[in-house]
Amino acid sequence: MDKKENKKNDSGSKKSMNRRDFIRLGFQAAAFVSIASVSGYLVKKSMDEDLVWQIDPYKCTQCGRCATSCVLNPSAVKCVHIYIMCGYCNLCSGYFVPNVKELNTGAENLLCPTKALKRSYIEKHYYKYDIDRELCIGCAKCVKGCSSFGNGSLHLQIIRDLCKKCNQCSIAKVCPSGAFKQISASKAYLLKSGWKG
Ligand code: SF4
Ligand code: SF4
Ligand code: SF4
Repeated sequence: MDKKENKKNDSGSKKSMNRRDFIRLGFQAAAFVSIASVSGYLVKKSMDEDLVWQIDPYKCTQCGRCATSCVLNPSAVKCVHIYIMCGYCNLCSGYFVPNVKELNTGAENLLCPTKALKRSYIEKHYYKYDIDRELCIGCAKCVKGCSSFGNGSLHLQIIRDLCKKCNQCSIAKVCPSGAFKQISASKAYLLKSGWKG
């Protein structure tokens, strides 16, 4: 390859990096605003109460009991997405079943049983994944896929404005990994990747 071609390739790669960085920065900013406002609301709401239940996302093993053991139906536990950690992958292991044949929205290709995880096109090879909280049942299927083969940007958390703050959380009793803990309501919402709200 001659010098001219090398230069051309370098400039192509820089161009593509810049576009990716631009997209990522855009969504990081949006995610920050979204997480900060959710967290702010959750902390403010719980200031006048003493303790709240919280999931440590680094301890959760995605056993599925968050969906089935809450006193609420659907559960107060939902999937949350930390966009800053996401790779915006076309082949998303949180969205598609393992060994998926076709990357389309056919029900047989999707992990989420309720279609709560929404995929939207950004540009060639890049897709954004959003959670419809109304539809999410906290089953952790997407979280397992994302944690096993992706960046782990999807994880479960108790939504404080839904939670009944039971003295003895029925999910905490059966959680096999000790991921549930009671914390002071004045503490910020624990999210992955250092986001404290
Ligand atoms: S019960 Fe515990 S390990 Fe199971 S999905 Fe919920 S937080 Fe994760
Ligand atoms: S797979 Fe389960 S946890 Fe993930 S978005 Fe769908 S319902 Fe929620
Ligand atoms: S405290 Fe009660 S409402 Fe909240 S997650 Fe646990 S069982 Fe569900």
